[in-house]
Amino acid sequence: MQLLDGKVVSAAIKVQLKAETANRLAEGKKIPHLVVIIVGNNGASETYVASKVKNCEEVGFGSTLIRLPEDVSEETLLSKLAELYHDDTVDGTLVQLPLPAHISEEKVILAINPAKDVDGFHPVSVGRMVQGLPTFIPATPYGIMLMLEHYGVQTSGKHAVVIGRSNIVGRPMSILLSSQHAYGNCTVTVCHSKTRDLASFTREADIIVAALGRPGFLTADMVKEGAVVIDVGITRVPDVSKKSGFAIRGDVDFEQVAAKSSYITPVPGGVGLMTIGALLKNTMAACKMRAGELS
Ligand code: NAP
Repeated sequence: MQLLDGKVVSAAIKVQLKAETANRLAEGKKIPHLVVIIVGNNGASETYVASKVKNCEEVGFGSTLIRLPEDVSEETLLSKLAELYHDDTVDGTLVQLPLPAHISEEKVILAINPAKDVDGFHPVSVGRMVQGLPTFIPATPYGIMLMLEHYGVQTSGKHAVVIGRSNIVGRPMSILLSSQHAYGNCTVTVCHSKTRDLASFTREADIIVAALGRPGFLTADMVKEGAVVIDVGITRVPDVSKKSGFAIRGDVDFEQVAAKSSYITPVPGGVGLMTIGALLKNTMAACKMRAGELS
């Protein structure tokens, strides 16, 4: 079994981006600038946002964190996004999800400038991804693809089963794995909460991406010998032994499944770190595109 180590791959991405940013600075070129908006103070969102800002700083990007109160009106958030849409100092804009129930995620995503859509959630980005055109790929699936590439995991002709069909993970993951490129070309089955006898699909899979948010869902009896297992799940479960009072668990029963798999991602230390690396890469790409260096 080979561990797909998010620490190793994301560190390599950051080294490369840090050097590229330093070169840009030396050449008098624009440095990428990411703006992150957080609404309210959801614990998990706070952690993700803090990590995004910290990682920007580590590679030398500019970053701005905008905090809005839980009860901010949809109108105020949309007008902030309208400002950022036209702000030439800003290369990437993202709004941390989920949002409070009174704000429409759909309206918020549509209000982001597609040229700054580093989360890749805007329909323009999604449409381009489906058509195989250059675009911003949502950070988690993009991070997984970068990890497969780093470890040279063969995907062509393989049967991949993606569990979960959300717009941010499962759906784009299934599209990327079935697309015509070096780390695609899979035959893909998408499973979800209405799938009957889900284990009959996973048992046939060469590659399994578990993205459902049910801790320990994928057990050894659901996996064939030698499968590649990607665990996207991040769930906080109570754990009195931790200072925080919770532990992070993935969707895979790691100990048991690792023994049967050829490659597997740990949680934590796997896909989560890759998500940040992919977001940074999208932000650099946005900066270059807006500077006319990329088409
Ligand atoms: P989501 O929007 O809640 O979607 C979950 C998907 O799983 C849905 O498609 C749902 O099916 C399916 N599902 C739920 N229970 C199921 C079951 N018992 N059997 C089969 N399918 C089931 O979640 P998400 O945003 O995609 O996130 C999924 C997990 O990944 C969460 O733990 C989240 O925290 C984590 N995550 C991690 C990262 C990272 O950086 N590592 C990034 C994003 C998300 P229906 O469509 O039928 O409801």
